[in-house]
Amino acid sequence: NTPLHELDPEIAAAVDAELNRQQSTLEMIASENFAPLAVMEAQGSVLTNKYAEGYPGRRYYGGCEHVDVAEQIAIDRVKELFGAEYANVQPHSGASANQAALFALAQPGDTILGLDLAHGGHLTHGMRLNFSGKQFNVVAYHVDAETGLVDMAEVERLAKEHRPKVIIAGWSAYPRQLDFAEFRRIADEVEAHLWVDMAHFAGLVAAGLHENPVPYADVVTSTTHKTLGGPRGGIILARGKDFAKKLNSAVFPGFQGGPLEHVIAAKAVSFKVAASEDFKERQRRTVEGARILAERLTAPDARAAGVNVLSGGTDVHLILVDLRESELDGQQAEDRLHEVGITVNRNAVPNDPRPPMVTSGLRIGTPALATRGFTAEDFAEVADVIAEALKPSYDAEALKARVKALADKHPLYAGLNK
Ligand code: PLP
Repeated sequence: NTPLHELDPEIAAAVDAELNRQQSTLEMIASENFAPLAVMEAQGSVLTNKYAEGYPGRRYYGGCEHVDVAEQIAIDRVKELFGAEYANVQPHSGASANQAALFALAQPGDTILGLDLAHGGHLTHGMRLNFSGKQFNVVAYHVDAETGLVDMAEVERLAKEHRPKVIIAGWSAYPRQLDFAEFRRIADEVEAHLWVDMAHFAGLVAAGLHENPVPYADVVTSTTHKTLGGPRGGIILARGKDFAKKLNSAVFPGFQGGPLEHVIAAKAVSFKVAASEDFKERQRRTVEGARILAERLTAPDARAAGVNVLSGGTDVHLILVDLRESELDGQQAEDRLHEVGITVNRNAVPNDPRPPMVTSGLRIGTPALATRGFTAEDFAEVADVIAEALKPSYDAEALKARVKALADKHPLYAGLNK
């Protein structure tokens, strides 16, 4: 029972340093968030010790009576949260959930139609080196070069031409809401299954700030750690029970063995949080923060520095900064912001002239800062710091001081410091 700091000082030091990094910098990676202490407490619990292959009430191991309770609570809560008839809370990650969903809906060799990775799609939606790209015949749709919006006419044309088994609606880097009804109409027309991957915007859906894909899709997958703000993991939902058996057996025994019951318990806690008024209010600040960023980074002085925002704004928790006319590339812009204490990731813009490791864009998200308590006023200050940092000449020390003031104003995980 030796504590971590004594048993393994090297790992303890890395954990402490990461806590300090999260506390002292501004986290604006759009896929990240800060899980509540209660979520981390459940995740760090004795449930990590339990084998529980199978599903609640139908396990291949003895002694599952308590993890059954926790997993059933997670299932019931997430069904209620998203109005789904079916839920599987066992996928270890978003990618695992997507793998199970795809194999439940299609056979290797079948055609799938998803958003191109370079236009905001995810690896698991058909990228060449991913299982989805290796085992399925991939056709990709794109965003329109002018508007930055998903080209629904292209989706329809490609669907009719290739008659995919599955159409995938969902994204990792896209600042607008998708038209689920239109995806459903196209899927019906070509007798395809519709799978929505709401990993990024699930928290907004839970708060009623984004249309819920569950009534439209055959299957919906999500991560639990992005806007949803829970532990790192995945879930699968469906409006009906048609695919329940296939989905359950794709997760276990198809791709996974024993479920992570400690993570499932933590998911249950985060679903409880996501049903609260506080969570809704936080998601409202998240979306408002992104709008404030978009406004500031399209102001005349930002435009004069070659900075712009794809699609002209945002409906969600992130913006995509377009640096094609800036003297900074994506890597340089990411480094500048890192220097002043703001963490973001560089991101390709559609038809990016620069290579994928450099890019001409940034993806900037607001969920983590909203969780930290940032208000509209704070987001306006962050947006101004970013706009200043992306100008040809900038005062790094002054910007660092402004970032520090914001971080100090909104302490994070205060009780965790040793
Ligand atoms: N789906 C989408 C749309 C994502 O953006 C991501 C992660 O970035 C995933 C799935 C995969 O989630 P994970 O990293 O947990 O495998």
